[in-house]
Amino acid sequence: MLNHEILFKRPHLLEAFLFCEREFFLETMGVYNQDNTPMRIGDNYHEKRTKPHSYAIKVDKINWERNELIEIKKRTIGEGAIMQTYLYLKMMQNYSSKIKRAVITSVEKHQKIMLIYPDSDLEKKLTIIFDKINHMEKIPARKEKKGLCGKCSLFDYCWVD
Ligand code: SF4
Repeated sequence: MLNHEILFKRPHLLEAFLFCEREFFLETMGVYNQDNTPMRIGDNYHEKRTKPHSYAIKVDKINWERNELIEIKKRTIGEGAIMQTYLYLKMMQNYSSKIKRAVITSVEKHQKIMLIYPDSDLEKKLTIIFDKINHMEKIPARKEKKGLCGKCSLFDYCWVD
């Protein structure tokens, strides 16, 4: 059974969860498939779960004068980017209570989204996500169509029989 606490150690997994729950599940197990390297299950999972991760929050920039996190996205700002940035903001409260704002900027779309901590709607969404993770008992099904998988590194794992 998974525990949502893993998101506080590896917050980037939140974006994976929102893209594909199966990818999230496999990544928490340390499954990867790169350059035909045989997949490894177990040691990576064990190591990541037992060693404290010193650099869990990886933001693009911090504007210290404005007490603001800055996240830069190349293309459209999706739900995954919003929720992940909000999770960073939430985690930052353990380090600096002054940083309560984040700006996500899309370079290609000239789009900006501002997040303020705390946000009751985003907190509710996070609670739903945490709950889903805590009740995830088996590997989720793959997506309905290959075309929805984009450039997922686990494509062969899921689709090559
Ligand atoms: S290949 Fe597709 S179904 Fe499989 S983990 Fe990746 S996104 Fe999910």
